[in-house]
Amino acid sequence: MRRIATVVLVGVVVALTGSTGQTQSPSNPYARDPKQPIDEAYTKKMKEYTTAAHFTSPLVDYLPASKTVPTPQAALGDVAGAPGKLPYAREVYAYMRMVEKASPRVKVYTIGRTEEDREMIAVAISSEANLAKLDENRARLAKLADPRTISLNDAEADKLVDQSVPVYYITGTIHSPETGSPTALMELVYRLAVDDSPYIQKIRNRIVTLVTPVVEVDGRDRQVDVYKWHLANPDKHWPSLIYWGKYVAHDNNRDAMAMTLKLTQNVLNTYVEWKAQVLHDLHESVAYLYDNTVGDGPYNAWLDPILTDEWQMIGWHNVSEMTKMGMPGVFTHGTFDTWTPGYLMFIAATHNGISRLYETFGNGGADTLERTLGPSDTARTWYKQNPPLPKAKWSQRNNNNYQQTGLLVSLNHFADNKNLFLKNFYLKSKRSILKAKTEGPAAYVFPGDDPRLGPQADLLRIMQLQGCEVSRATAPFTVMVPGRKRPARETTNDASASGRNGADGSDGSQEKPSGEKEKPSAPEARTFPAGTYVLRMDQPYSRIADTLLDYQYWAPDDPQRNPYDDTGWTFGELFNVKVVRVTDPKVLDAPMEAVKGVLTAPGGVNGTGSIFAVNHNADPSLATLRYKFKDAQFAVAEEPFDAAGQKFNRGSFIIRGVAADALGKAATELGLKVTALATEPTVKTHAIKAPRVAVMHTWLNTQDEGWWRLALDQLAVPFTYISTQNVSQDADLRAKFDVILFPPVGRGSAQQIINGMPMYGNALPWKKTELTPNLGTLDSTDDMRPGMGWQGMSNLQKFVRDGGLLITVDDTVNFAIQYGFTPGVSVTPAQRLKITGAVLRSKMVDAASPIAYGYDETLSIYSSDGPILGISNMIGGRGGRGGGGDTRRVTGRGTPDDADQPQGRAPSDPLPEDPRVEPWQAAPIRDEQLRNGINIIPPAQRPRVVLRYGDARDLLVSGLLDAGTEIAQRPMVVDVPVDKGHVVLFSNNPVWRGETQGSYFLVLNAILNFDNLDAGRKLDSR
Ligand SMILES: [Zn+2]
Repeated sequence: MRRIATVVLVGVVVALTGSTGQTQSPSNPYARDPKQPIDEAYTKKMKEYTTAAHFTSPLVDYLPASKTVPTPQAALGDVAGAPGKLPYAREVYAYMRMVEKASPRVKVYTIGRTEEDREMIAVAISSEANLAKLDENRARLAKLADPRTISLNDAEADKLVDQSVPVYYITGTIHSPETGSPTALMELVYRLAVDDSPYIQKIRNRIVTLVTPVVEVDGRDRQVDVYKWHLANPDKHWPSLIYWGKYVAHDNNRDAMAMTLKLTQNVLNTYVEWKAQVLHDLHESVAYLYDNTVGDGPYNAWLDPILTDEWQMIGWHNVSEMTKMGMPGVFTHGTFDTWTPGYLMFIAATHNGISRLYETFGNGGADTLERTLGPSDTARTWYKQNPPLPKAKWSQRNNNNYQQTGLLVSLNHFADNKNLFLKNFYLKSKRSILKAKTEGPAAYVFPGDDPRLGPQADLLRIMQLQGCEVSRATAPFTVMVPGRKRPARETTNDASASGRNGADGSDGSQEKPSGEKEKPSAPEARTFPAGTYVLRMDQPYSRIADTLLDYQYWAPDDPQRNPYDDTGWTFGELFNVKVVRVTDPKVLDAPMEAVKGVLTAPGGVNGTGSIFAVNHNADPSLATLRYKFKDAQFAVAEEPFDAAGQKFNRGSFIIRGVAADALGKAATELGLKVTALATEPTVKTHAIKAPRVAVMHTWLNTQDEGWWRLALDQLAVPFTYISTQNVSQDADLRAKFDVILFPPVGRGSAQQIINGMPMYGNALPWKKTELTPNLGTLDSTDDMRPGMGWQGMSNLQKFVRDGGLLITVDDTVNFAIQYGFTPGVSVTPAQRLKITGAVLRSKMVDAASPIAYGYDETLSIYSSDGPILGISNMIGGRGGRGGGGDTRRVTGRGTPDDADQPQGRAPSDPLPEDPRVEPWQAAPIRDEQLRNGINIIPPAQRPRVVLRYGDARDLLVSGLLDAGTEIAQRPMVVDVPVDKGHVVLFSNNPVWRGETQGSYFLVLNAILNFDNLDAGRKLDSR
C-alpha cells in the first residue's frame, strides 16, 4: 500500500479527541451499557461453545446487539469460534466489508498482494470523528514520528500529543496452523464498532485500532482446505500443512530483517504509513495466553530502553487484569528472548514503536478437544501464579475469548495512557535521531570503491525497504575510522596448532577471554571517494540500520541457554559488502545528497567490439545474465587476465553471440559493468551453458528449501521443482537435469529421507480437488508418506555417475555421506560445539576451483551447527586431524629435538618426518598403504576442499560460537568427483532467509560450471 484513500464523510460529527463518552466505573470498569440490548441468540451460542465459565471474561461473554451492523454470524453461519467453522481469507474480508458498509466507524483498506496474488487488507476502527480526521491525525503523528520536522521541539511535540489519536496495529494468523485469530478479530471489529459500554467507547474515542485479520493469506487458504478435508474424512489422519506461503512456512515470521516476503513488506509499509505506535502479532502455541511482551533476556542490544520499560508496563498490566477476571494461564515472562530482530512484530520495536506478541492456545483447527498439558506448562512459577490446568476441554471459542479479552485489555490500557505512549513514541523517535551524537555510531559508510557495487546496492535497497534514508557523497570526504579490527575473542588452546583434537575434552577448548589480546590499533584517517553511500544515524529509523549492520556477540555462558533464533546476522558480512561503522561525527558534515527513489548499481557496456567481458566479483546478477541470454556463447576464464586496461578476476565471463544493445540494456538493469573487446583475451577458458536445474524437496518439510526457491526466483534462474518421490520413479534423471539441488530438509535423518513418513494408517494426499482447491499448486502427490526409497537413491547416484551435479547442504550433506555418495569424506560428531545461527569466517583453500570464482581469501558465511567434515584419500579412511601422524617424540634419551638410540647397535638414519597435515587436508598415502592399495582413491576422484572454516582465533564474526575449535579449519565446501559427475557438499548454509547473498555465488558457480568443476585442479599421486 502506497497511498491511503482519503476518507470523505458527509455531515461529520465533531467530537473532541480523547473524550471518553460515558465514564468507566471504578468499581466495575468492565460494566456493559445497561441501555444497550444484547444479541441473545449469539450470546447463548458463545456460552455454549465456551467450555468453562473461567475461560471467558466480562468483556466478551456477551455480544451487544445492533440494528444495522451484521454480526460475524452473517458471514460464518455461526458465531466466531464455533466448532467446525474456519473461514477462508476472502470470507473474513467479505465480513469486514459488510461491517464497513454498515458502520461509519469502520474502514477497510487493501494493503497489497501476496506472492500468489491474494489480497491483504487492514481494517481501521475508531469513532466517526476520528475516522473523519484520519489524514489530519496522520499528519500530526508523522511529525512525532520524525521530530526533525518540528526541530526536535518538545513543547511542540506536547501539543501534538494532546491533539493526536494513536494507532494500535493488530495482525492475525501469520502462522497458518494457528487458526483462531481471524474469527477473534472479526468479532473484535464488531465489538469496537458497536459496543456502547464505557470500556469500549473509551477505546473507540481515543485510539485507531488497525487490524490485518490474515497476514499469511496464501497459507490460510491452504490450512482451511486441510481442515475441510479433515471434516470430510473424520476418522482419518489428515495431511500436515507442508506448504504455508509460496516459499516458506514458519519462517515467514523471521523475515523482518531482509524483507523478502510480500507479507513482511506489506505489514511494514502499513505500520510506517499509518505511523502506528504498536504492532501486536497473534500466535497460538502456548496455553492459555503467553503475552511475550516481557519475554526473557537477552534483549536486543540496539533498542531504546524506553521501549523495554514499556514492555514491562504493558505485559504485567495485561496479566494483572486477566488474573482479576479469573482467567487461568495468563503470563508474560519467560522463554522468548528478544535478541533477533527478524520477527514480524519486531518491525515496531526497530521503528520506534512497541512490539507485542501473544501465544494463545489453539487446537490447529476448529475442533473442540480434551487437551492434556505437561508439567512444564502447568507448574506454578513466580511469573505464572495461576498456571493452565493439567486437563481441560478446549474449544476455538475459548481461544477467541482469550485473544479478544487480552486485546481489549491492551487497547483500554493504551487508551488510558495514550498521551504517555504518544510522548514515548516521540521521545524514541527523537532519541533515534540524537543517537548519531550520543551513543553512536554517527553513520554507516558504504565505500564507493567497493569492488562489489551490485550487492552493495542490493543491501542498501533492503535498508530503503526498512524505511531508512540513504545519502550519497557528492565529493570525497575524510573521517577517522577505527584501526584494524581484532578477533572478537581468542581460544585458550588452539587445538589446530597442537595437532591434537579435543575428543577427550582435556584440551581446554573452552573459549575464555584471553589476557593477551592484540591492542586495538589507534583510529586512523580514511578518505572515501565521491559516490560513497552514507547511512546517517541522525534519522528516525536509525535503530534498524544499526541492528542490521553492527556486529553481534552472544556470550557462550549467557544465562539464556536456549537462544530463540539466530544469534548473529551482520548484514555487511553476509552480503560480502564493505560497511564501515563510523563514530566520528564529522561524517555528518560530509557533502552528500539524499538518494531519491530506488537505489541501483551502475551498469552498461563500455568500449567497442563484439566480444564482451564481465568481471567476476560474485555478484549474483551474473547468473541472471547467463540465463537471460540462454542461447549466447558464454565462457569463463580459468585464470585472471588483463584486457582493455582492466583487470579481470579468475572466472570472469567472456560473451559472444549477443547484440550490444540488448546486452547493454540488461547490464544497465542488472547493475553490471560490461566491457566490449575487439579481440579475444589470451587466457584459458571453458564454456558455460545455462544448466538445467532441479530443486528437490521432501514431503517431510519444505521450510528451509523455500528460501532457496525464493533466491533462484529473485535471480530469474529457472528450475524444475521435484520431490524425492519423483526421483524414485525416474531412472534417467540425467536426461532431464544437469544439476539437482538438495537444500536442507531441516528435520529428519538420512533414513527419513529414504523412508519418508510412517506408512501406518491412511494415505495423505496433497493435491488440488474440489474440496481442496488451494493444495497441490506448488507440487502435488496422492500420498505424502513415501520417501525417496532405495530406488530413488539408486537413481540419484546414477544421475551423478552419468555426469550430473548433486548439491547438498547441511543435513543433506549427512545424507550424501551416509549413503556413500562421497568416497573419502567423513563426519565427526560434535562434542561441545555450539553454533546457533551465527556468522563465521571461512578461508579459501583452492582458489582455482570454479566454485571459488569471484571470491577473495576470506568470506563470512551463515552457519548453524553444520556437519564437521574431514577428508581422506582412502575409502574408509578417517578424515580430519591426526591423520598426518604425531611429530612429538617418544620417551628416550636426549633433548626434545634429539633422536632416541637403541643400545647395543649402530645408530640408524632417523625416520623421515611425515609432512604436516592441516585439518582441512587429507593425509598423504604412506608407502605401506600403497601395497595392494585397494582402498586408495585415484587422485582425480579424491575430494577437493574449496573453502574451510577459519582458524579458531578468528572463526567467529557475529553471534554465538562455543567450542569452535571442533570445527575450526575443517573443510566447509567440498567438491567430490564421482565417475563423470560431482557431489558438492556445503557444511554451511549459503542460502538463508535472503540474508546471505554474499555466499550465493558459491552455489551459482557450482551450477554454471557443473561440467567443468575439475578446472584448475592440481593432482597429487600421494
Ligand atoms: Zn506462531
